[in-house]
Amino acid sequence: MLLARSGFKPSSQHKCSLNNSRTRLYRRVSLQVYAMATDANEAASRRVVICGGGIMGAATAYYLSQLGVAATVVEREAVAAAASGKAGGFLALDWNDGSPVGPLAQHSYALHAQLAGTFGSEEIGYRQLDTLQVAGQAAPSRSQSRGGGSKSAQLPGWLDGGITACSRLGSKATTAQVHPAKLTHALVSAAEAAVGSKLLLATVTGVTTGSNGAVTSVRVQRQQAAAEEELPADAVVLAMGPWTDAARAWLPAAPVTTGQKYHSVVLRPKEPVSDTAIFTSFRTADGRSVEPELYPRPDGTVYACGEPQAVPVPGQGPAGVTVDASRCDVIKGVAGSLASCLADAAVEAEQACYLPLSSDGLPVIGRLPGVQGVYVATGHSCWGILNGPATGQAVAELIVHGSTRSLDISAFDPVRVCGVPR
Ligand SMILES: Cc1cc2nc3c(=O)[nH]c(=O)nc-3n(C[C@H](O)[C@H](O)[C@H](O)COP(=O)(O)OP(=O)(O)OC[C@H]3O[C@@H](n4cnc5c(N)ncnc54)[C@H](O)[C@@H]3O)c2cc1C
Repeated sequence: MLLARSGFKPSSQHKCSLNNSRTRLYRRVSLQVYAMATDANEAASRRVVICGGGIMGAATAYYLSQLGVAATVVEREAVAAAASGKAGGFLALDWNDGSPVGPLAQHSYALHAQLAGTFGSEEIGYRQLDTLQVAGQAAPSRSQSRGGGSKSAQLPGWLDGGITACSRLGSKATTAQVHPAKLTHALVSAAEAAVGSKLLLATVTGVTTGSNGAVTSVRVQRQQAAAEEELPADAVVLAMGPWTDAARAWLPAAPVTTGQKYHSVVLRPKEPVSDTAIFTSFRTADGRSVEPELYPRPDGTVYACGEPQAVPVPGQGPAGVTVDASRCDVIKGVAGSLASCLADAAVEAEQACYLPLSSDGLPVIGRLPGVQGVYVATGHSCWGILNGPATGQAVAELIVHGSTRSLDISAFDPVRVCGVPR
């Protein structure tokens, strides 16, 4: 067909060699199709256990389900119980350009738009939005603060506080947002519905390997069960956020993972505010420089986060994360200083969670060296919601195909940060 379209008339010799090469091509394609079918059949029968029900575990389960593989997601508390349920959900297309994370972020940004198409934007709180940087300061009195500062035409009306400078950081073409908890839940539910993936509420307490160095099972302690049990596994994904560090007790090669605690609040102003994300640089009345971020959400709330606190990751999991009310007060104070509608907004949540951090600051994605069948997805720092979908897709491809198809993830190979002695 293609030859005829181009007007080329094949000679008998051409026909012969064409037929031969067609036959060879047919055989090769048949073998590939057979190999892919075998891959898919083998993959479908694999027992995959994902440790952790945050965005990394959920996205891995979802993309595995798209490849026909059911997984068991083991989560100690609840899906999105930690940072994946308490993050801002801000997404940026190109803010990681120039770093190894750039291509991961670009690809994941596109996947978020796809997921919004699949699940429905309203279902997961996805929308594109403008993003501004504003500088401001606490005013001596409320009457002096309103209308102060050099206002810019691009400043939304609801930002009526002591703003001294404003600049554009992103547009609807380059920045967006998603509701992290809704997305994480949607990914798990879709994996359950598509291929019968399962959520198991239990704490992972160990990973067992056989004499050949391949993983054989995951040890779990179900909530309120007396004894531990073994889940047989051919593939295990370590996606426990900052708690991935605990895996070093079971698998010495597992990466050192730490956490940085931050606070956040969810406010509900009387009237919804416009779809503009606000990054701030604010001088408080006592002269401190703070940088809360404000994200108005499609559900009418405004999420605001900031205020780090140097506290180790609690061993008992998300339930052990305490909230420092004074840090939440600082965030609310800045929000209220910049926007009067936030000063008297209802407070729907005051919370804290940890960024998962690797020892070199880059995500850790890929096979754990020295143990067959163990994969890692952690260390995404402040971009885990953005990069969750591309990470989950890459890990799913590694498990099913043995290599990634969507993206080169060699920059995130666990080998660079693994096996560091305690
Ligand atoms: C305040 C704040 C705001 C943020 N805002 C953004 C943002 O706007 N955009 C963005 O892209 N990123 C943001 N992030 C970063 C993002 O939230 C994280 O990178 C991401 O959520 C990490 O996901 P995770 O799945 O690796 O880990 P987590 O969300 O921490 O999930 C790990 C899960 O593993 C479970 N677990 C732990 N140990 C065990 C065990 N032994 N057995 C079973 N389960 C276990 C935990 O209970 C938890 O549910 C923010 C982070 C913070 C702290």
